Amino acid sequence: MHKVAIVGRPNVGKSSLFNRLIGRREAVVADFPGVTRDAKEEVMLYHNHRITLIDTGGLWSGDEWEAVIREKAEWALEGADAVIFVLDPRDGLSAADYEVADWLRRLGRPVVVVANKIDSPKHEPYLAELWALGFGEPVAISAEHARGLDDLMDRVMEHL
Ligand code: GDP
Ligand code: MG
Repeated sequence: MHKVAIVGRPNVGKSSLFNRLIGRREAVVADFPGVTRDAKEEVMLYHNHRITLIDTGGLWSGDEWEAVIREKAEWALEGADAVIFVLDPRDGLSAADYEVADWLRRLGRPVVVVANKIDSPKHEPYLAELWALGFGEPVAISAEHARGLDDLMDRVMEHL
């Protein structure tokens, strides 16, 4: 089964997206012992494909981007076929975001950049900046309003 990991800094909406994609269907929940109680994985269905979705929330501790955290994140991402890199573009990009981007590049997994909290078309101008991360066109979504989720999953499926 394909594995897709959701990464990003705290508060960008990873868990909201995770819950949206999973829906309310019964699913397997597994903690990653020794890493964080927040990181969990569940199985989602998309067009009859079963995909294991991993919410890596808790691996990031804000700007405290230390080797030990990276190591744990690497371990959690081991075996992921693709990565959903979630950002809140209303904040703009920080040095930490570029650091995470470089780290993801070295990890060598396909990355889909997601601009979350694009609740309405008036937020779309925020998107342009995210091209600078070097992973191609960002996908605009609103986890809260369930906007753009099919676009996102179509992009992810291209890598599976
Ligand atoms: P995480 O720390 O990355 O897992 O982020 P959460 O999923 O816990 O969300 C952090 C905050 O952002 C919560 O208050 C959410 O309600 C809010 N949030 C998540 N998605 C959206 C969205 O699409 N639009 C808006 N306006 N807020 C959102
Ligand atoms: Mg979370």
